Amino acid sequence: VPELPEVETIRRDLCPLLTGRTIAAVAVDPATAPLLLDRSPDAFQARLCGRTVRSVGRRGKYLLFGLDDGATWVVHLRMTGRLLWRQRDAPEEPYQRAAVAFDGGHGLRWSDVRKFGTWRIAERLDDPTPALGPEPLDEEFTAGWLAGQLQGRTAPLKSFLLDQRRIAGLGNIYADEALFAAGIHPLLEAGAVGADQVTRLRDACATVLREGIEHRGASFRDYVDASGNAGSVQGHVRVFRRTGRPCYTCGIAIERIVVGGRATHFCPVCQPRPPGGEGR
Ligand SMILES: [Zn+2]
Repeated sequence: VPELPEVETIRRDLCPLLTGRTIAAVAVDPATAPLLLDRSPDAFQARLCGRTVRSVGRRGKYLLFGLDDGATWVVHLRMTGRLLWRQRDAPEEPYQRAAVAFDGGHGLRWSDVRKFGTWRIAERLDDPTPALGPEPLDEEFTAGWLAGQLQGRTAPLKSFLLDQRRIAGLGNIYADEALFAAGIHPLLEAGAVGADQVTRLRDACATVLREGIEHRGASFRDYVDASGNAGSVQGHVRVFRRTGRPCYTCGIAIERIVVGGRATHFCPVCQPRPPGGEGR
């Protein structure tokens, strides 16, 4: 599932390709109608055609294409969405659901096996994304801010990290990796995180996300960049999906538990169980 580093990789790929380009045609498979949430394919096409892309941004896991009339085309890849930059006459992608042609002979292809992805137009004054916490790579994401957010929370720390209203863009892969890097057990109650741990956790979140971008995202399953190439994070993870394999630091087998319905991977030695924590 694409998280901040995957979406940011696509954003960086598309920014120089799309900025200044004008949308010439939009074709959405009517069977993929949920993609457009509240608009029909015809209404969506009428709204986008002729618009020029002025910016390619990102907020959390959302891609934000700023248009010349002040609106924003908001794309969320969800589970298996892909945005691929292709020549207009290139053959259809597997599971292609929509295509957006630009001037200049290229366009975007949208493919989505599971069909959970969404496209939306946020008009000029609309907030393009729901309420999201700060960007973990921005300066506002400080240890002090994080400590304030953690205070009094009884949820397991892993669940706290996945809550997009607290921190935008972290998902299952990078939350597990950040907890390992910080040496904190995923079941530790969020409000019980100590002062030293808060600083380590803040730094670990930023580091694993930055490394994720450097490795161009994680391609455990469906994710590819805007050219269709896999990222390489999966070759660098220390705990995620390494159940039963030796920890690179201490040699003990990595364990897997389920926290808040999500598979969670950790080292029982490097991330000691919290006092009184029963584990699950
Ligand atoms: Zn270890």
